[in-house]
Amino acid sequence: MFKKILVANRGEIALRVQRACRELGIKAVMVYSEADRDAKYVRLADEAVCIGPAPSSQSYLNMPAIISAAEVTDSEAIHPGYGFLSENADFAERVEQSGFQFIGPTPESIRVMGDKVSAKQAMIKAGVPCVPGSEGELPEDAPTLKRIAKSVGYPVIIKAAGGGGGRGMRVVHTEAALLAAVQMTKAEAGAAFGNPAVYMEKYLQNPRHIEIQVIADKHRNAVYLGERDCSMQRRHQKVIEEAPAPGIPRRLIERIGERCVAACKKIGYRGAGTFEFLYENGEFYFIEMNTRVQVEHPVTEWVTGVDIVRTQITVAAGEKLPFTQRQIQIRGHAIECRVNAEDPFKFTPSPGRVTTWHMPGGPGVRVDTHVYNNYFVPPNYDSMIGKIIVHGDTREQAIARMQTALAETAIEGISSNVPLHRELMVDANFIAGGTNIHYLEKWLSDHK
Ligand code: ADP
Repeated sequence: MFKKILVANRGEIALRVQRACRELGIKAVMVYSEADRDAKYVRLADEAVCIGPAPSSQSYLNMPAIISAAEVTDSEAIHPGYGFLSENADFAERVEQSGFQFIGPTPESIRVMGDKVSAKQAMIKAGVPCVPGSEGELPEDAPTLKRIAKSVGYPVIIKAAGGGGGRGMRVVHTEAALLAAVQMTKAEAGAAFGNPAVYMEKYLQNPRHIEIQVIADKHRNAVYLGERDCSMQRRHQKVIEEAPAPGIPRRLIERIGERCVAACKKIGYRGAGTFEFLYENGEFYFIEMNTRVQVEHPVTEWVTGVDIVRTQITVAAGEKLPFTQRQIQIRGHAIECRVNAEDPFKFTPSPGRVTTWHMPGGPGVRVDTHVYNNYFVPPNYDSMIGKIIVHGDTREQAIARMQTALAETAIEGISSNVPLHRELMVDANFIAGGTNIHYLEKWLSDHK
């Protein structure tokens, strides 16, 4: 096992990885920007290295600074967390070329999956069903574009091959709007992701977002850890996640889970990963794969009993998966609410000093956060500052526990979206279960 790991991230996930290292008896080296020098995980660190000023481009995205931090501290491996450099194939490559273990898949897997066009092609080859659409990147010429859109059938969605974080997508309802939409998405994609390539998919009208968690070792063993329902979204960003997905027959989940495992074996995948699908009328359609741990991993940890971050580390060190597919049983129901520093209904970011931070507790409640009383939320990063996760024997019990947990939660000094979560947890349609990806946006516009 590793003796020392460098954690190349910040916020709650940096603390989550630090905790996993502690449990395994591994020293964790934390890196931080000048804006994060007071972070709890930095103060508690075995070792901590400042990697630059507040802007991510000069700190958490600064590959040479991170690799030198690993060198000077004599770390053996680097855990990238999520976001930042976690899905950057060049980073994974440089980490390995510098003699460190990257805690994640190979640079080749990241490269194939990081380009959504090549990811879909790999999945089609591996027998995973995809959303119908263009075969590969869209060409420039108008007649061909129109022909492709016509055969896919309107409405269509134009998506950036290198897109992520819910950005770089545009829905097109008519041929008249097609060319301009393709041009605009291309220009945006080039500017935002450094890759102007776009592709087309059929725009599904009422799907749910269902994803399959997988984990694989270096000995060709791969297991799926059930599914998550992440349909509660705003601007293609997840707000609430749960496991298992309400109302989907187990045999359908098993069938798609087995396909994902077969795909992992086929592409030589290692580490944790997520296959994201849209689910409509009993069918799954692959949209993309995330080659890292996800924000919503705790709901899966709770219903399966598997510590995903710990397993990422042990498989990166070359150990075999400590469980087989048969040993994975889904127990009870888990729900996660993402806590964001933002206005709960207008969604404007709300960084600043947290004067009161009181988090819930009790049976079946887990809080993953790096925030504490008097913590200053820097304006430079993502607004997600923590996660409240609950577990119950049934979905009803989990919802009741989340209602109580949210009622106990007190955050002052900044605005948070906890008031929105309180309303959603008593919403009749959420309680009924199985709402689609448009539900939250519609709910928000109806409640204005
Ligand atoms: P990102 O990498 O930016 O998260 P995804 O491809 O995972 O992008 O899509 C994010 C979300 O966008 C999905 O969860 C879904 O809500 C919506 N979406 C993506 N593709 C489609 C599609 N073909 N039809 C309908 N909605 C889609």
